[in-house]
Formats: sequence, structure tokens, C-alpha cells
Amino acid sequence: MQEAVLGVDIGGTGIKFGLVTRDGEILISDKVKTKGYPNPEKLPKDLFKWANKECTAFDLKLIGVGIGTPNGNYYTGTIDFAPNLPWTGVIPLKKYFEKIFSLPVALTNDAKAAAMGEMYYGAAEGMKDYLFITLGTGLGSGIVVDGKIVYGYDSLAGELGHTIVYRNGRECPCGRRGCLEQYVSAPGIVKTYYELLRNQNLDEFRTSLGNMIDSAEVYNKALEGDSISLEAFKKTGEILGFALANSVCYTRPEKIFLFGGLAQSGDLIFKPTIESFENYLLPIYKNKIPILPSGLKENEAAILGSASLIWNELK
Ligand SMILES: [Zn+2]
Repeated sequence: MQEAVLGVDIGGTGIKFGLVTRDGEILISDKVKTKGYPNPEKLPKDLFKWANKECTAFDLKLIGVGIGTPNGNYYTGTIDFAPNLPWTGVIPLKKYFEKIFSLPVALTNDAKAAAMGEMYYGAAEGMKDYLFITLGTGLGSGIVVDGKIVYGYDSLAGELGHTIVYRNGRECPCGRRGCLEQYVSAPGIVKTYYELLRNQNLDEFRTSLGNMIDSAEVYNKALEGDSISLEAFKKTGEILGFALANSVCYTRPEKIFLFGGLAQSGDLIFKPTIESFENYLLPIYKNKIPILPSGLKENEAAILGSASLIWNELK
């Protein structure tokens, strides 16, 4: 009988889950709406029924549950004050799952789970030191040193998205100003686009406000050669390269992987990022650290990453 792990990815709107083999094949997956679970204790009960049914159908032996979630704390197995989830306060989700499944359960922050997925099922296979950056509505990161995710003293290490790149810069929901993710993220590049538009063409800026564009449209406009969109990508890459160059001093990764919507913009984001990165790097690191696209598929990364937590604990 083949072994499988239940990978669970918790998001603000949806909860995705699937049965993953050791080789990283998602045999079957499904999703439910997060708001359908005002009581989080119901979630493991429903997933237990689903997993049992599918394990029988696929002749699988379930060996554990890996959970990736916003504000997940690996040490305590809790979700702590997640602003985008319907659950307030501290939720002991790992405990709820252990009670129902009676199997090993691992819970961590979603970006850290995806970072582990990169080692098991992506482009970081066999690698022990790398940096994983996910660019979405925010900037998440997972720092891997000596084959392990860096959790720090209380599991909260690795918040690269909230390193300050501009003193007194853009306001961040964390309560401070100038955080990296306010510039390098889907909403960040849109803000940069509008700043540039306002500076270069005030009339167009004014008329555009009635019908604002999103990051996908900034990308499309850049492909069409729109100078302001191209400039927005350049500026975003410059800031990311600068931040990454600083981060190298702490852990000296072998490689850096970029994942998520913005990372799929190809040269538009990679070129200015790498240029700026090399420019700001300490000379001992120059031309030694490739910045590459993640090897994980966009639609599989979350479930694979969560599942890899268990394969990693049982190795
Ligand atoms: Zn912040």
C-alpha cells in the first residue's frame, strides 16, 4: 500500500487540500470555503471523512497531515491572530487535527511550507541553503539553512517582507512605514505604477482613477511596451534586488528562488532584480548567487509545500 500525506493550505477565502505521495504527486485534491468554517474544530472532522474515503478509493495509507496557513506558528502549532482568517485570537489547529487523525501533524506559516516544498518537489532538490520568496498580495519568505527552515526563537523568523527599504516610506498594515512588501508585491507594483503616472502624466493619472488597473494589467501594458509599466517593473526589481543583496549577508544562500504572480513576469522582473542585486552585493558574493524562478507549479505549491512538512519530519 502506497503512503500518502494530507496537505492542507489555509487561505483567507479558500482551504485547499490533497493527498500527496512521497514523489510529490497530488492524487486527488479539493477545496472548501474558509467562511464555511466559523468553528475551526469542524475542519479536521470534515477532512478526516474526506481523507478516509479517498484513501480507500486510491488504496493509500495516510501517514500524517501537513498544514500551511497565514500566521502559522510551527513551535506551538497554533494560528496566531491571523487578520485575513475568520478565526480570531490563537487557534490551536494542530491539536484539533491530532485529536481527530491520531497521526503526526505539522503546521507552519504558508510561505515557509512552500519553501520546504521547493526542496522536496521543486528546484531546490538536494540543496541545503537557499532563500525562497513568494510574491503575491504580500511578500512571504522562507529561509533555509543547513537543510532546515529558519524559525528563530519563537517561530517568527524570516519576515523579509517587513524589512524596511525606505525610511518613512509607504504605510504598511504592520503599523510601520517603508516595508519591502509595500513595494514588491502585486499591490506594490500597482502603487508604483500610479506614482510614476502621476509624476509623468498628471492628466492621464486623473482620468485613470475612475478605472484603476491591477498588477496583471501593469504586466500586459509592459508587454505592449508602455513606458510607465516598464518603469514600474524596473523600479520593483531594483528594490527587490537591493533587499535580497542585504539578506545574503545573513545566511549566504546557494540560490534564491522567486515564486508567485510577479515572479511569472519573466525578464520584466528578473532582469532588473538581478542587475540591482549584483550591484548592491558585497564583492565576496558577486556573480555567485543565481536568482531563479521557483520549480513549483503555481496551483500545486501550497498543497505540496504543506505535505512536504510531514515527509521532512519523518525522514
Ligand atoms: Zn510591514
